[in-house]
Amino acid sequence: MKVMKFGGGCLCSVSDFLKVVEIVKNEKDDCVLVVSAVNGITNELLNGIEFAQKSESNIEPIIQNIRKKHREFADEIITNDIIRQEVIDTLDIKIVKLERLLYGIAFTEEVTDSVKMHILSFGERLAAILLAGVLNDKNHVALAFEADTIGIITDSCFENATANISVVKKNLKQKLLPKIQKGITPIITGYFGCSENNKITTFGRNGSDYSATVVACGLEAETIILWKNVDGFMSADPTIVKTAKKINQLSYYEAAELAYFGAKILHPRALEPLIDSKINVTIRNFSQPQNEGTIILSKFEKSKPSIKSVTYNNNIAVLRIQGPGVGFKPGIIGDIGNLLAKIDVNIYSIITSQTCINLLINPNDSQKSYKVITDLIGDTIQNITLEEDISLIGIVGEGLMKTSGMAANVFTAVAQKGINIEMISAGASEIAYYFIVRRKDVKETVKAIHNCLF
Ligand code: ASP
Ligand code: MG
Repeated sequence: MKVMKFGGGCLCSVSDFLKVVEIVKNEKDDCVLVVSAVNGITNELLNGIEFAQKSESNIEPIIQNIRKKHREFADEIITNDIIRQEVIDTLDIKIVKLERLLYGIAFTEEVTDSVKMHILSFGERLAAILLAGVLNDKNHVALAFEADTIGIITDSCFENATANISVVKKNLKQKLLPKIQKGITPIITGYFGCSENNKITTFGRNGSDYSATVVACGLEAETIILWKNVDGFMSADPTIVKTAKKINQLSYYEAAELAYFGAKILHPRALEPLIDSKINVTIRNFSQPQNEGTIILSKFEKSKPSIKSVTYNNNIAVLRIQGPGVGFKPGIIGDIGNLLAKIDVNIYSIITSQTCINLLINPNDSQKSYKVITDLIGDTIQNITLEEDISLIGIVGEGLMKTSGMAANVFTAVAQKGINIEMISAGASEIAYYFIVRRKDVKETVKAIHNCLF
């Protein structure tokens, strides 16, 4: 069995929908599809939530626009009158529900997390109905399923939910296998699930990647194809390095490291559900379906131990906590971690020395983190500074620790450009090597390293 996910970038135009049909019809394996919202709809829903709080009169134009977009696709693509009318009616029922939720916000002038997630889930609900109609019209039997009704159960972390895989397994097998056995292609809404007490949760923006891996795990599929509008993972950001090459193969951990690091191509947590599975994931370019893409092997397969990619992340800040004795104070990292956890701040990474603890965090969290940590200034901690004008550079690949002279070569290449490296983290993982430079130097650094390594 194969799970194929079509992102919003694959659902932009009439010809996109027809291309999806072609891809699905050409598949010989049993297929399960996971869909994102039609391009732009999730943003439209976000606007809807914001504008509805300001005035009721903002709701109608947004609803009209969403209805128009979906109906146009149905009108232009679906030729069978009965199928088309059924799709339009089903879409309308959903859109009325959406409208009511938005009016609810306008009347109460407030929006809870669960209502917000519920509203955001409508993009995927509408896309699944539409795509199922299109496939049926083209003589491929398909049926739309909503993640909450088929039991994609998650925790209650509303905007960054985690699926309960063992429960999902039981539910999906029960709800979907009989349909698949009858030759029906299920089309499942991506992006959201629901908590045990029936509240809609989402997996964060671009969360349909994660949905696809959850569904594949749940159904014990063999492979996943994520159709996107890029070629796959690259050896560097091609807008910075003209000679960047597509990476054909990545190990599970390499891909996870790159995704967490901020390579926008894959949802950062998409690989998590697959940790114990033999399922591999291929990223394919929707506009160039003949291309091979990047295959991410399961951790049970051997990948080539080479250096794969140099990447960067500008969305980073460093909180530098200094004091002569920080390296000798038991529990200090725990204290800091607890304080930050209380205000919901996630620490990406910690780089320490005997006199300094550096926390890598999201810049959105930096001011509030700075504030709470200031309370710790006393005997041990004497000074706290915040660095925001920085970038994190990462070099990723299974071959890293086995390539002698790599660090020397990289640092020489960077030094030759007159760029100063401020902080280094190496050896924490066998496959990634991180360091910090000033934000203004990020492009030159990436170019210099790519030149040196590839
Ligand atoms: N539609 C959601 C978003 O735009 C989820 C997704 O595209 O995967 O973020
Ligand atoms: Mg999207």
